[in-house]
Amino acid sequence: MSTIYERLGVRPVINGVGTVTRLGGSLMPPPVLDAMLEASRHYVSLPGLLAAAGWRIAELTHNEAAYITSGAAAALVLSTAACITGDDPEKMALLPYPQKIPGGRYKVVMHRCQRIGYDFAVRQVGIELIEIGPSRAEVRAGATERCTRPETLEATIDDRTAAVLYIAGANNAPGALPVEEVVHIAHARGVPVVVDAAAQIPPVENLWRFTGQGGPAPWAQALAQIGAPEAASPPPERIEPAGADLCLFSGGKGLCGPQSAGLILGRADLIAAIARQANPNALIGRPMKVGKEEICGMVAAVEWYLSLDFVALAARYERQVQHVIDAVAELPGVTATRSWPNEAGQPMPRALIALGPDAGLTRDELQRRLLEDDPPIELANAGADGVYVNPQDLRDGDEVLVADALRRILE
Ligand SMILES: *Cc1c(COP(=O)(O)O)cnc(C)c1O
Repeated sequence: MSTIYERLGVRPVINGVGTVTRLGGSLMPPPVLDAMLEASRHYVSLPGLLAAAGWRIAELTHNEAAYITSGAAAALVLSTAACITGDDPEKMALLPYPQKIPGGRYKVVMHRCQRIGYDFAVRQVGIELIEIGPSRAEVRAGATERCTRPETLEATIDDRTAAVLYIAGANNAPGALPVEEVVHIAHARGVPVVVDAAAQIPPVENLWRFTGQGGPAPWAQALAQIGAPEAASPPPERIEPAGADLCLFSGGKGLCGPQSAGLILGRADLIAAIARQANPNALIGRPMKVGKEEICGMVAAVEWYLSLDFVALAARYERQVQHVIDAVAELPGVTATRSWPNEAGQPMPRALIALGPDAGLTRDELQRRLLEDDPPIELANAGADGVYVNPQDLRDGDEVLVADALRRILE
């Protein structure tokens, strides 16, 4: 019996990169697939289903409201739109030309050092993007003014500002104001804050860290329990929320929901404004359609993820990373170490394999040989001379295939 991929002539790969869309994000567990199949058997009112699914997810994540989108990029479009229009259908009809709204708010402020490719989704709403503070390169170079000053944000927000966009993750923090301070300054001027936490699961507590009422800290506690060197000691009992207005996540990254799904959590009035201009209504969100199967799959994914044994998950990541390190550590010219956090700044380990001059091959040769392997293995580059093995998307046992291939190629 051949697989659908074989019949199409494409080769499945081992994903040691992480939850990147290019390789399929993540794999859905059986409860998510079951929910999607069940959903596919009946007709249902889509607005009714979206509302009910939103209530369920809001309750599970300690938030006032929730909305399911076709991904985090779609969530950026819809969140931006809602901050501009509120619940006013006349304003919604003018998008993506917010400058045409009489007296309207059409600017979005963000840190220059947090600019990412996905901010295209925000600009797609027609807004004017206002950048504050130093760029990533300036922060890295240690420029004199290394950090954004609070006064800069205060002076930048005006009565045309629709929202402040904040990109979560430890990798986006250097040079930026803390999210709590951004919320404080923006709220004092009546402006909402949208947090992009698309790839920030784990830690699970991010579902209630930026918006909502706060809640327990299972991932921080799991890290402490397995003795991760980076764990807070003692770990927090409770997470206090930052007070942001909306926070968005990819459904198909850490949550292991459908690839074409995403989540927005936060304020009920803004989420009502989102729902009004999203599928099936023919406004700005209509091309970003999420189907009944993805909606039910997303509910199941959140339920499934919250029920995980996080101590076991944290231990699995460590075990997979250690397995790879042990397999190659003794090879000539090769240095293998545990690295923290990962490329998205998530609090979890990955293996860093560095090739010295004695390794006998370059990083690019290693990458080429891994892609020619059977099955092909995809790893991220680590600088000019190394690769990372990220365990987040390794299935149980994939670490053995990766370790064996690395050994075979590097030996
Ligand atoms: C992946 C990602 C997105 C886009 O997410 P999709 O769910 O693929 O649309 C947006 N922002 C950040 C920071 C991301 O990592």
